[in-house]
Amino acid sequence: MSADLKKGRIVIVGASLAGLRAAETLRDEGFTGELTLVGDEPHPPYDRPPLSKQVLLGRVPATDVGLPGRHLVDARWKLGVRASGLDPSTKEVLLANGERLPFDRLLITTGTRARPWPHPEEARLDGVLTVRTIEDAGRLAERLDAGPSRVLVIGAGFSGSEIASACRERGLPVTVAERGPAPLVGALGGTLGSFAARLQRAHGVDLRCGVTVTSLTGANGRLTGAELSDGSRIEAEVAVIALGAVRNTEWLEGSGLAAGPRGVACDAGCQAFNMYGIVTGEVFVAGDVARFPHPLFEYQMLALEHWGNAVEQAEVAAHNMVNPGPLRRPHLAVPVFWSSQFGLNIKSVGVPTFSDQVTIAQGSVEERRLVVVYGYRGRVTAAVSVNRAKWLDHYRHLIETAAPFPPEPGAADRPAAPKVVPSDVPDPKVLSHGPTVALTGHLPDRRLAVVRPMA
Ligand SMILES: Cc1cc2nc3c(=O)[nH]c(=O)nc-3n(C[C@H](O)[C@H](O)[C@H](O)COP(=O)(O)OP(=O)(O)OC[C@H]3O[C@@H](n4cnc5c(N)ncnc54)[C@H](O)[C@@H]3O)c2cc1C
Repeated sequence: MSADLKKGRIVIVGASLAGLRAAETLRDEGFTGELTLVGDEPHPPYDRPPLSKQVLLGRVPATDVGLPGRHLVDARWKLGVRASGLDPSTKEVLLANGERLPFDRLLITTGTRARPWPHPEEARLDGVLTVRTIEDAGRLAERLDAGPSRVLVIGAGFSGSEIASACRERGLPVTVAERGPAPLVGALGGTLGSFAARLQRAHGVDLRCGVTVTSLTGANGRLTGAELSDGSRIEAEVAVIALGAVRNTEWLEGSGLAAGPRGVACDAGCQAFNMYGIVTGEVFVAGDVARFPHPLFEYQMLALEHWGNAVEQAEVAAHNMVNPGPLRRPHLAVPVFWSSQFGLNIKSVGVPTFSDQVTIAQGSVEERRLVVVYGYRGRVTAAVSVNRAKWLDHYRHLIETAAPFPPEPGAADRPAAPKVVPSDVPDPKVLSHGPTVALTGHLPDRRLAVVRPMA
C-alpha cells in the first residue's frame, strides 16, 4: 500500500506558494510518479507579501519576486491555463483549453483573488486598481511613480494599511476609507485598532472610519474621485480596492466537494470533504483555499490567508498524499502572520479574533513597542507583537498549552498594573474588507438554529 502511494499520477491545481511547496515535499517524500502542476497565471510561483510592501516602495521590481525553490522539482508545469472543472467519476481535472488530466490523487491549492469593486463600470475607470498579482503591483507602482495628486485606499485591513503606508513613505497624499471603527480592528480587535488609527493619522493619512464609499466617479474614462456615505467627496487619481479576498472555488462547481465561498472544507489531515462531509480519500487541499478544523480553536473551521499556513499545510498535505493512514500527520500548526507598515513590524501568533478579552502584557502603546495577549474564556488564544517579535515563541507555547488568561506576569517590562479589557473584535459584516482569518464553526453559546419537536 505504502509503496503504491509513492507512485501513480498526482495533479496539483494552483501553482503558487502552496502548490510549489507541496510539489517539493512530494519529491522529498519519495514520490516517483507523474507530477503535474496547473496554474492559470503565466509565471512560475512568486511571493505575494512584497507586492504590497517593497514593490510599492519601488525597492524591488514587481518582476523580481520569484519564490526560490528548495530544489528543482521534477514535474510537468502547465502555466497560463485554468482548471475549469473536476470530474469525480473519471478522476480528471478539466482544463479551459479542453485538455483532461487524469489523476490518482489531486491537491487543490487555488488560493484567493482580490475582491473586486462591486460596480463593474466604476471598476473599469482608469486608475482603479487592486493588489494581488505581479501585474497588479507593477501597475500600482507605476502609478505611484507618476506622483498622483491623491490616492484613495478603500478598506483598512492589512493590505489596505500596507498600501497606505507605502504611499505615505513616498510622500503621497492618501485617504483611507473604512466602514469599520478603525484600521486592522477586524483582525486585531479594539486595542490595536485604535493604536493603528492613531499611527496612521500621525503619519499623515487622511483616515475616514465609519464611512463607506458609495461611488467612484470619473471623466473621460479616468477616475476623478469618490463619494462617501457621510456626504463628503474625495478627489483622487488612483483608488486601490482593498476589500479582502475571494476564494477560487468556482471551478469546483459540480465536483461534489464541500467547496464554496468560504473555501474547500477538509479534515485536519488536509483530505477534502465531499458535500456530505465524508473525506474523499484522493482529493487534498492546502493554503488560502482550505478550511480546516483546529482543536485549539474548539474545532471550528479555520480559513487563513497566511503565508506560513500555506507552506505548513502544503507540506502536511503532500506528506499525507504519499503515506498510509498510520503515518499521516495532522495540520495543527498555530497560525502565524506578519505585516510591516508605518515603520512598525507587527507579528501575530494564534487567532486574535478568537478572543473575548485582551491585555497589554509587555511594553506600551506610547512606546510603540508592545505585546497584546488575547484570551478566550480564561485561556490564552493569541498574541500580537509590535516591534517586539522575539517574545512570540513564549506566547505560542502558552497558546499551545491552553495556559490561563491573563498570563502569569514574567517579563521585565510588563506594565505595572496590566489591565484586562474586552477584545472588541467587531462582526466582520461591519468592515469594508473581508477577514484574513475566518472562523466558521458553531459555538454552543451562540445559538444559530433552534431544533423544535414537530407538533
Ligand atoms: C499583497 C499581498 C500581501 C500579503 N502579505 C502577507 C504578509 O505580510 N504576511 C502573510 O502571512 N501573508 C501575506 N499575504 C498572504 C499570502 O501571500 C498568501 O497566504 C499565500 O499567497 C497563499 O498561497 P496559496 O498558494 O495558498 O494561494 P495563492 O498565492 O492565492 O495561489 C493560488 C494560485 O492558484 C491559481 N489559480 C486559481 N484558480 C485556478 C484555476 N482554476 N486553475 C489554475 N490555477 C488557478 C491562482 O491564480 C494563483 O496563482 C499577502 C498576500 C497578498 C496578495
